[in-house]
Amino acid sequence: MKEYLEKVWTKRPLIISGPCSAETEEQVLQTAIRLKATQHVDLLRAGIWKPRTKPGMFEGMGEKALPWLIRARKETGIPVMVEVARSEHVELALRYGVDLVWIGARSTVNPFSVQELADALKGVNIPVFIKNPVNPDLELWCGAVERVQQAGITHIGLIHRGFTSYAQTPYRNAPMWQLPIEMKRRFPHLKMICDPSHICGNRELLVQVAQKSIDLDFDGLMIESHIDPDHAWSDSRQQVTPETFLGILHALVWRSGEESQPETHNALMALRGQIDHLDDEIMDLLSRRMKLADQIGLYKKEHNMTILQAKRWNDIMQRALAQGLPIGLSREFIIRYLDAVHLESIQHQNRVMNEETPTKPIA
Ligand code: PEP
Ligand code: MN
Repeated sequence: MKEYLEKVWTKRPLIISGPCSAETEEQVLQTAIRLKATQHVDLLRAGIWKPRTKPGMFEGMGEKALPWLIRARKETGIPVMVEVARSEHVELALRYGVDLVWIGARSTVNPFSVQELADALKGVNIPVFIKNPVNPDLELWCGAVERVQQAGITHIGLIHRGFTSYAQTPYRNAPMWQLPIEMKRRFPHLKMICDPSHICGNRELLVQVAQKSIDLDFDGLMIESHIDPDHAWSDSRQQVTPETFLGILHALVWRSGEESQPETHNALMALRGQIDHLDDEIMDLLSRRMKLADQIGLYKKEHNMTILQAKRWNDIMQRALAQGLPIGLSREFIIRYLDAVHLESIQHQNRVMNEETPTKPIA
C-alpha cells in the first residue's frame, strides 16, 4: 500500500469529509481546498455512483467525476475515496487511482453485491470501509467484513451510519449504538468510524451524535460537507460548509480512549443505548395505540355504543397476562401498566365522543 496511505490509516481520530456527491469539478475542487484549509481532514470523500431510493433522483456523475477527485488530491494532497457498489465501479476507481473505497449501506445489506465487490477487490491492496447495512442486522455487517477479509483486504474500516427503524426517532437513521459497540467487540482490530451525517439527516444533531461516538471510543468521523449545502444535489439538509464542519470539530471534546473510557463504561453506555431505543419504540407504539382508540371512539359514537365494554377489557387483560407472565413480567406490573394505558385510551375516546358534539339544549 502507498506509504502516505499507511500513515493516514494509523491516524486517530481519522477525519473524513467531503460532499455527499461530486456534482461539478469546481464544487469538488473548492470543497477540497476549503477542507484542506481546516487542517483537519485526512480523507476526502465524494459519492459518484449514488444508490437512490427512487428512479429519477440524481444518481451521481459516474466515471466523469473520477478525474475531478484525482485533481482535488493533486491540489490538496488529501487522499480520496468513493463508494463502490458494483465490480465496474471498483475497476474504474482503481484505474483512475482512487486511494480507498467504501461499501454503502444499501450494498452491505445484499450478500450478492458484497461478494461481487469482494471478488473485484481480490489481490488489490487498498483500504476498504464497510458501512453498516440499512437494517439493524449485525450478522449481515459481519458477513460483509468476512467476505472482504477473505478477498485478502488487510485494511478494513467500519462506518456506523445508523439503521432504518420502525419507531419514529429524531434521526434519519436510528443510531442503535449497541450494534456498532458489538461490532467493536467482535472485530477489535478494525477501525470504527461514525457517520453522524447519515444518522442525523439534519445539521442540528451532528455535534451531539459525533460527541457520543467519541465517548464510545470510536476511531474517527465521516461528516458530509459542501460549498453550498442548501443547494446540494443530494442530502442537502445534512451537509455543512467546510467552515461549519471545522466549528463542529472544535465543539467536540476529544477524550482519550483507555483510562477515561474503561470497558465497563462502554458496556453501560451500550445498555443505556438499548434502553433509550426501546423507550422510543414504546412511546411510538403507545401513540399509535391511542390513535386507534380515537378511531374506535368515533365508531362507538356513530353506533351509539358505550366506551367501556367490560368483556373486551377483561379479554385484553387476560391476553396480556397470558403473554407477559411467562416472559418475566410480574402480574402487578402488567395490571398497573394496562390500567394506565386503558385509562389514557378511555380519555382519548371520551374526547372524540363528547368534545366535538355540540351540547343539545335541554328540552
Ligand atoms: C453516502 O455516504 O453518501 C451514502 C449514500 O451513505 P449510506 O450508504 O450510508 O446511505
Ligand atoms: Mn449522503
